[in-house]
Formats: sequence, C-alpha cells, structure tokens
Amino acid sequence: MSPRACLGCAAALGEPFLDLGAQPLANALLRPEDAARPEPRLPLAVAYCARCHLVQLTETAPPETLFGDYVYFSSYSESFLAHARAMAEALVSRFELGPGRRLLEIASNDGYLLRFVQERGVPVLGVEPARNVAEVARARGIPTLARFFGPDTVDEIVRDFGRAHVIVGNNVLAHVPGINAFLEAVAACLTPDGAAVFEFPYLGELLARTAFDTIYHEHVFYYSLAAVARLAGRAGLEVFDVERQAVHGGSLRVFLQRAGARPIAAAVGRLAGEETAAGLTSAARYAGFSAEVRRVCVELPALLRRLRAEGRRLAAYGAPAKGTVLLNACGIGTDLLEFTVDRSPHKQGRLMPGVRLPIRPAEDLVKAMPDVTLLLAWNLADEIVAQQGEYLRRGGRFLIPIPAPRLLERP
Ligand SMILES: [Zn+2]
Repeated sequence: MSPRACLGCAAALGEPFLDLGAQPLANALLRPEDAARPEPRLPLAVAYCARCHLVQLTETAPPETLFGDYVYFSSYSESFLAHARAMAEALVSRFELGPGRRLLEIASNDGYLLRFVQERGVPVLGVEPARNVAEVARARGIPTLARFFGPDTVDEIVRDFGRAHVIVGNNVLAHVPGINAFLEAVAACLTPDGAAVFEFPYLGELLARTAFDTIYHEHVFYYSLAAVARLAGRAGLEVFDVERQAVHGGSLRVFLQRAGARPIAAAVGRLAGEETAAGLTSAARYAGFSAEVRRVCVELPALLRRLRAEGRRLAAYGAPAKGTVLLNACGIGTDLLEFTVDRSPHKQGRLMPGVRLPIRPAEDLVKAMPDVTLLLAWNLADEIVAQQGEYLRRGGRFLIPIPAPRLLERP
C-alpha cells in the first residue's frame, strides 16, 4: 500500500500509533429486526503527522454512511443544553450580536444552540446535513439548510443570509475530511471583522484521560491547538483566543479571524506552551498512549468477569458512540452486560452496534437493579449520578471505564 498523505498538509503519514482493527460504525444503532444481518465494519486506526501535528484517522468512511439518519439529538442532555445556553449568551455579548449582526451555525443539529441566540433578537441560520434533524429545527422555527456546509454552499449562504459576524461550529471540525476547503469556505462566509468559533473534544484531554473511546469513524481529526493554528493559517485565518471547556469530557473552544483583525489573546501562547510541555507535538507521546489503551482493554473486561464470577448482575448506562467503541474494542458484550439504558427515545429499543447490547429506557435501571452499571457516557457522570439517586440508594454502583476502570463510591 502506498503511504497515506496527511489530510492537512499532504506530508506522508507514518504508521498509525493506535489500531483498533475493523470496527462497526459507532452511531449505527441497529433495529432489532436487523440483528441477524451483518454490519459494515471499517478499519479504525489513528496516525500523527509529525509535520503539522494533525492527529487523524488513516481511513475515512463516506459521509453519507455516517450522517444520513443521525439519531443524536443534542437537546436530550441537560448539561449540554445548559452549556449551549451559556455559549449563546457569551457569543451574543462578546461580539455584540443583534438585529444587524448575524450568526451562522454549522452542524446546527436540532437548533439546541440557535434557539437561545434567536430569542435574543439575532438573525440566525443553521446548516445541518442530517435531514431528519434539520426538520426538527425547522419545526421549532429555526431557519435551517439541510446540507453539508462547504465550498458548494458559500454562494447560497452569502446571497440569502449574508456574511456572518459570528460562525459557530460545535463538534464539527473533527468530522470534515476536506478540512482545508471547509475552512476556506468558513473564511468566505465571514465579515471582515467576523469570528469563527469552533468547539471540539480536545486532544490534550483525550490523551490525559486515555479516552480512546472518543476515537471513531465520524471523528476524522483529534485536534490540538497546534494543529488548528496551522490549518487556520492555510485558510488565511488565525487563532485569536482559546478557552478550555468541560463539555464532552474536555473540549477546546477556539476563536478564528482573518489574520490581523484584532489582537491575539495571551491564552493562545500560554496553551501552545502547555501543549509542547505535554508532548502533544511529539511522536513519543502517541506511542505511550497506545500502551495505556491496551491496558484498559485488558483491565476492564477482567474486572467485569470477576464481578460476574462473584454473582453480580451487570448493565451499562448510555448508548453513545463512545460506548460502541469501548465495548467492541474491549470485547465486552451480552455475555457480561444484560443491557444498557439511554434517555433518548430515538435510541431505546435498538441495539448497540457490533456487540448487539439492547438499549432500554433509563427508568429500567431501577426496575432491573443490576448490581454494577458501567458508565458508557462517562462525560455525563455527574448528571447521571445525580439523576439516579434511587438506583444508588438501593445499592447500585457505577463503574467508570477510563482512564483506569474504577467503581464510584456511593455519594
Ligand atoms: Zn500534516
């Protein structure tokens, strides 16, 4: 096979530092009637580009297979909604948005963020490729284009909506294989003093938490500030501010502008220094990560088998994409877990890809009272623990899988 080229800078990519083998699509929850059919499996491996520091999948899946009938509705997580409201307020105030200063959101999902911006009197437009999700947003009165954002949508947006003073993209940068063309399209949709604000799971947190379960086919890229800064530069943009955010297990919010539009905040240089110190711009750090992942994949199933041998009944909480990755990579299936639960009615009644674990409503946790519940949605641990007081009072325990498997103490 010929050496792969970096999707950012086109340099030849070395060997992947982590190879999880052939994995099912993490969000492709199965209907029970499809349980007998084989699922598509694609290689899942990540490599580090030593030239531009971009961490990326070595193979990408066609976007149509990933987002055609997306079942993730942002509005089902309370903590995520609170985060969206706070972000909306921060953007409206910092960038003085109002009737004459517009906001465009890329991958606007069901309007979870735009509704908070719109209610402040700001003209908004969402761009959302999943047709069923875009319909939900429109039904709520939020103007939404059911399209992939990119070079092909620029003219239509500029003509019908106008250039935006703020462009937001939450959890979208990681999903776009053609990242250079995407950022050029972003630049083309911005006013001269406009700001493009992107939030994405932070590579520094992924490494610190051994959160390898956030590596899946939908996420082509795993970003450091160093990598984003180089990509932005190629599109004529620069990072002028950066903030750490707790959402999704640790995210970065970066602020991009046309080069020179305003001064650069001190936080940018500070985080760049922290990244160098933490090894994010060195291949050795990634080799070490691979060994940490192998350890979790040995220790977690061993702990579950021991609990089963002691006669404990085991289940899981959540049916997120990261749960699919964790269960399949660690070989944890219905031999160890009875079921998982999820609050989203769109997931209930379906099966987790690969391991075929059934997904039941959240109330079923207390009805079935498994002794130990593996928290697949570990990024929402505080919220879930707070909601599951009765389960805990009746003796249930939660198990957090990473960075090393551990049973949570009862509150
Ligand atoms: Zn590169």
